Amino acid sequence: MSRTNEKIIYLDNNATTQVAPEVFAAMRPFLNELYGNPSSAHTFGREMRRAVEVAREQVASLIGANDVGEVVFTSCGSESDNWAIRGALELKSEKRHIITTMVEHEAVRNLCEFLAEKKGCGVTWLGVDSDGLLDLENLRKALRPDTAVVSVMLANNETGVLFPVEEIGKIVRENSDALFHVDGVQAVGKIPIDLKRTQIDLFALSGHKFHAPKGVGALYIRKGVNLPSFIIGGGQERGHRAGTEAVPYIVALGAACEMAQRFDGHAGVRRLRDKLEDTILEKLPNAHLNGTGDRTKRLPNTANISFEHTEGESILAHLDEEGICVSTGSACNAESHVSSAVLRAMEIPYSRAQGSIRFSLGRYNAEPEIDRTIAVLPGIVSRLAEMSPIK
Ligand code: PLP
Repeated sequence: MSRTNEKIIYLDNNATTQVAPEVFAAMRPFLNELYGNPSSAHTFGREMRRAVEVAREQVASLIGANDVGEVVFTSCGSESDNWAIRGALELKSEKRHIITTMVEHEAVRNLCEFLAEKKGCGVTWLGVDSDGLLDLENLRKALRPDTAVVSVMLANNETGVLFPVEEIGKIVRENSDALFHVDGVQAVGKIPIDLKRTQIDLFALSGHKFHAPKGVGALYIRKGVNLPSFIIGGGQERGHRAGTEAVPYIVALGAACEMAQRFDGHAGVRRLRDKLEDTILEKLPNAHLNGTGDRTKRLPNTANISFEHTEGESILAHLDEEGICVSTGSACNAESHVSSAVLRAMEIPYSRAQGSIRFSLGRYNAEPEIDRTIAVLPGIVSRLAEMSPIK
C-alpha cells in the first residue's frame, strides 16, 4: 500500500468501515490469551461463553429485539440474507413464491435469481420510482397465498434510500402468512432500529459496516419462527447455527453495537453529508442527485450523485489520485463495468447512470476532508466532461 491511512480521505463507508479502536481493544485479548472454546465445560470455556452472551445482549439492545435469544451470530450479511430467505422457503416448503425488490444488494438479488432459475421459485420483483421509492400498493397486490417470504432492504447501499419497513411489515402481516425478512446491513449503526415495534421476522446485519471487523454478522430471528439451520453440525448458537463461535469477532460485533448505541455524532455526519451534497449540486451544473431529495427518506451518511456526460470510473480514479476514496456503486459491482442495477431500476438515463459516484461518510470524517473534496471535484468533473466523447 503506497498511501498511509493518515493521507486518505475515506468517503466509502457503505463499502466497509475502519475497525474502531475501542472495538479492537475489546476483541484483542480473545485473539491471544482468551482462546478457549465457549462450548468447553471448564471455567476458561465458560468465560468465553459469557463473552459471547454479553455480545448477544449488546446486539439485541441495539436493534431492539424482544429477547436476546432472537440474535444468532453469522459470518457476514450475505450469510444472514441467504439463511433468512432459504430458511423461509424450507420452513414453508409448500410455498414457492418470493417477493423482493429490483434494488436489493446482490446477496438478496442474485440469490432470488438463482432460486427462480434453478429451484423453480416464482419471484415478484417490485420496481421503484425515479426517486428510488417503492409503491406499497404494488406490494399488497403481489402477496399471494403461496408467498413464502417477502425480502426488502431497510437502507439501499448505493443511494441510501430508506424503505418503510414498519408499514411494509403491517401489509405483509395483514394480508398473508409470509415471513418478512429485512436486509438491515446498511442501516444498523446509522439510524435507530427498534424491531419490537415492527412485524419483521428476520433481520440481517453485518459488523464491518459499522466499525467491527469483516467476517461477522448476525441474523435476528423473531421468537416463534422455527427457521431451519443453514449450517448443520454441532449444537452451537442453541442449535441454530453449527460451528465454533468466532469469539473475537463476536465480541467485536457486540462492542461495535454498544459504541453505535452510545454514538451521539449522527447530526455531525449528516451535516457534513448535507454540506458535500448541497455544494456539489450547487457548483456543478451537470450534477444530479440519485435517490429522493427528501432527506428524511435517506440515510444521513450517503450521497449518490451523477455527473452527466462523465464516466464514474474516471472520476473515481482522479479522486483516488488525490487520496479520496469513493465508489461508483456497490463495491461488489465496481469491477464489473455494468451500470448499476439500482440506477437502472430507477430509470436513470445511461448518460447520467454512467457518471454516478457514491459518497458515504462515517463517524471519523472531519470537515476539512469534505472541504478538500469539494475543492478538487469541480476541476476533475469539468475536465472529464470537456473530454467526453458522449457529450
Ligand atoms: N446487504 C447490503 C445492503 C449490503 O450493502 C451488503 C454489503 O455491501 C450486504 C448485504 C452483504 O454484507 P457482507 O459484506 O457482510 O456479506
